[in-house]
Amino acid sequence: MLRKLLGLARTEPIDLAQWQRITAGLPFLDHLDEAERALLKGQCEAFLAAKAFSGAAGFVIDDEVRIAIALQACLPALHLGLSGYRDFVEIVVYPDRFVAPRKEIDEAGVMHEYHDELAGEAMQGGPVVLSWPDADPAGGHAGYNVVIHEFAHKLDMVDGSPDGAPPLPAGMRARWTHTMTTAYEDFCIGLDRIEAAIPRHVDPESAAADAWYDGLPLDPYAATDPGEFFAVAAEAFFTAPQALAHAYPSLYALFRDYFRQDPLTGAGDSRSR
Ligand SMILES: [Zn+2]
Repeated sequence: MLRKLLGLARTEPIDLAQWQRITAGLPFLDHLDEAERALLKGQCEAFLAAKAFSGAAGFVIDDEVRIAIALQACLPALHLGLSGYRDFVEIVVYPDRFVAPRKEIDEAGVMHEYHDELAGEAMQGGPVVLSWPDADPAGGHAGYNVVIHEFAHKLDMVDGSPDGAPPLPAGMRARWTHTMTTAYEDFCIGLDRIEAAIPRHVDPESAAADAWYDGLPLDPYAATDPGEFFAVAAEAFFTAPQALAHAYPSLYALFRDYFRQDPLTGAGDSRSR
């Protein structure tokens, strides 16, 4: 730990056989060629040396957990570098979803205290907190990846509060703003339409409403604000690229140029690599 705090540990080698076993069959790595896979492994080794994992509520951290989280955290940063993750050291992992206390003052000035059940949380200048059943890549499904989501927030927070715009090359800023705003507004309109179509006898929070929300190209949580839209769309970019490219081709192309990766080239490929 002291070495980490002093920045002395540069990399922590990952056994090749263990790496191959953990990465085998992960569909969101299909688009990477051999050189990119080697780059990802090297980044994970640097990431593991720089970060401190701790288990909460009795969760025991082992190398499988650390490597599985590292590879998903490093994937979005593969060609951006790990500098976006410099503002924190700690990654906290819970054995299940965790409860976070919240306080909110409403328009009438009344303080409301409540609890949120979370799969993940990224704090500005602070730790990333994850629920292992959600972070375990073996249990992932298309369009959902809490590790990519939280680390997309970290990239977004490099230049301040998460607003859906991470630091960008100067030539990309106007295109980013236009493309993200257009897609976000379109998504919010689509969500409003779906919510209006759900019959009154169906609870919108219940599983019975899923049939309506399934028509959306992204998880409804993306409508929360532009910061969440970026994080949810980044999850989709890596884990459901065909759906994102179909719904928002300009957004897909923007992310392809920003992340400098093209997950569509792996979609539908053999997963035997
Ligand atoms: Zn989020």
